[in-house]
Amino acid sequence: MNPRVLIVGGGPVGLMMAILLARLGHRSIVIEKKLPRQSSAPKAHVLNPRSLEICRAAGLDVQAMRALAGHGDEGNCARFMSLLTGTEFGMLPFIAADASGRAEPSPTPLLNLAQPLFEDILLRHAQTLPEIEIRRGHAFLGCRQDTDGVTAEIASPQARYSETGAFLVAADGANSAVREFLGIGMDGMPAIRPRITIHFEADLRALVRDRPAVLYWILDPRAHGTFIAYDAGHTWVYTPRVAPEDYDRNDYTEAHCTALIHRAIGTDAVDVRIRHVVPWMMAAQVADRYRSDRCFLVGDAAHRFPPTGGLGLNTGIQDAHNLAWKLAAVMEGRAAADLLASYEAERRPVAQINTAQSLHNAQKLTGLFDLAGRALANGEASADDRAALREEVETHREHFLSEGLQLGFSYGPPVRGPADPQRYTPSLEPGARMPHAWFLSGGLRRSTLDLVDPSRFTLLCGAAQRAGWSAWMDELADTLCVSLPSDARFESPWLAEPLLRDGGALLLRPDGHIAAALTRRDDTARAQADEALAALGFRPIRTPA
Ligand SMILES: Cc1cc2nc3c(=O)[nH]c(=O)nc-3n(C[C@H](O)[C@H](O)[C@H](O)COP(=O)(O)OP(=O)(O)OC[C@H]3O[C@@H](n4cnc5c(N)ncnc54)[C@H](O)[C@@H]3O)c2cc1C
Repeated sequence: MNPRVLIVGGGPVGLMMAILLARLGHRSIVIEKKLPRQSSAPKAHVLNPRSLEICRAAGLDVQAMRALAGHGDEGNCARFMSLLTGTEFGMLPFIAADASGRAEPSPTPLLNLAQPLFEDILLRHAQTLPEIEIRRGHAFLGCRQDTDGVTAEIASPQARYSETGAFLVAADGANSAVREFLGIGMDGMPAIRPRITIHFEADLRALVRDRPAVLYWILDPRAHGTFIAYDAGHTWVYTPRVAPEDYDRNDYTEAHCTALIHRAIGTDAVDVRIRHVVPWMMAAQVADRYRSDRCFLVGDAAHRFPPTGGLGLNTGIQDAHNLAWKLAAVMEGRAAADLLASYEAERRPVAQINTAQSLHNAQKLTGLFDLAGRALANGEASADDRAALREEVETHREHFLSEGLQLGFSYGPPVRGPADPQRYTPSLEPGARMPHAWFLSGGLRRSTLDLVDPSRFTLLCGAAQRAGWSAWMDELADTLCVSLPSDARFESPWLAEPLLRDGGALLLRPDGHIAAALTRRDDTARAQADEALAALGFRPIRTPA
């Protein structure tokens, strides 16, 4: 039986980690301190295309998730208003407006889903998988490690006990007890500004019917803040923008929160029920290390971003995806333990890139709010001020539209962010995610991403070349040969099709990133493939002549 992994934290990233390991046949125990997962204010709402691709490949029903999301595509945007019922100064989309004119960059476009709904979906799915055991009400206290595994000290409601696993994955959030226990520090800005999330229930559909959006930035200086519409008929969050010197948590009584919300809406003729008032500190930090021997940090335990950009949870899901296949390969003895070093080498720079963008987005808002403070000081903006506000809003496009950042990062080496954070450019360079394209084959519509094996390397070639490539790759470590079906008809051009049709092949990692693009079956290609695999700890199985 495969050794099991201890996962501390049953939030979205911990559950995703367990699901991804289970898909690879590995058992895990999820230690979650809440009993049961108590109701909480919704936080994340944007699930980006890459996260949804991972969900889809993990067997989650992305169509059902889409049906649950509170918005149609027309609501996938942010609006900038004086008040929620006031003047609009601009609208910025989450999805490229020209998307219809070019190939879809992903089989799973971005969607807005309240984090608790997403967590429920993950939990229900995890509960169907026999490889996963979830222990709620159990808290991590500490651990010790040796060459064989990790033993964690855990407090349950009944007793303290210890539990062993081959590895431990810390998915226990921004104030990670595991990170603290391991003595791993955080680099960056720990306290940018205090924030307060006011989660409330209200039916505001009639007020926003003509202006659907997920985010409404309120620019009137008497109500500076942001509304998040998780479900316009029911679930909302308002986060007032408070200067640190004016912040006192005790001010935020239910009555005060209701008054703030009414002021930001522009009317008090709306029934508002306050559900949660959650203070938190905006930070921009990345852990100094992602690993201590057999313990790994993922999700908010590894990085804390300002929420401006919707990258926190998404980056965490991708951490889990990067780590799961590596742990599986090492536990099964298919790869050398060196493979595990690549987790930090690949994911930490991505977190740094995403932190920088989130921080930039947060800081840039100061200019907009300052301008709005002057323009709307007397309630109404002049025509010139309105034009200036509209112009300023336009400069915030990359805050909301970050398709390049979401899909275009590359593990290299070296790890690289996209040339343009807003726009994704498909690439066949080593480290890039293999581009998606829809194709029809045997009457089925499939994505090229479906051709990737989640546990082994995939050598993807054209159908006519399959026999040749199969024989050629016999000596490549841990690789399966898969061919593009001969009847594949692409709906739009796919960047890799000419390479495959001309006899080349793509060597793909189990996470769908490109290990090597091989133009022909020759010694150069073999050296390229061997080098790419060996760099990750997979040794060629060929014995030297
Ligand atoms: C207002 C707001 C809006 C946001 N919007 C977005 C967005 O649109 N998109 C996006 O990607 N991100 C967004 N985020 C960020 C996102 O919410 C987080 O990145 C996400 O929750 C991180 O998930 P996680 O599983 O790593 O950690 P968490 O969700 O914090 O889960 C950690 C779990 O570990 C458990 N735990 C803690 N300590 C222990 C212990 N000692 N033992 C056992 N269990 C323990 C906790 O109970 C918890 O269940 C937003 C955040 C905020 C505040």
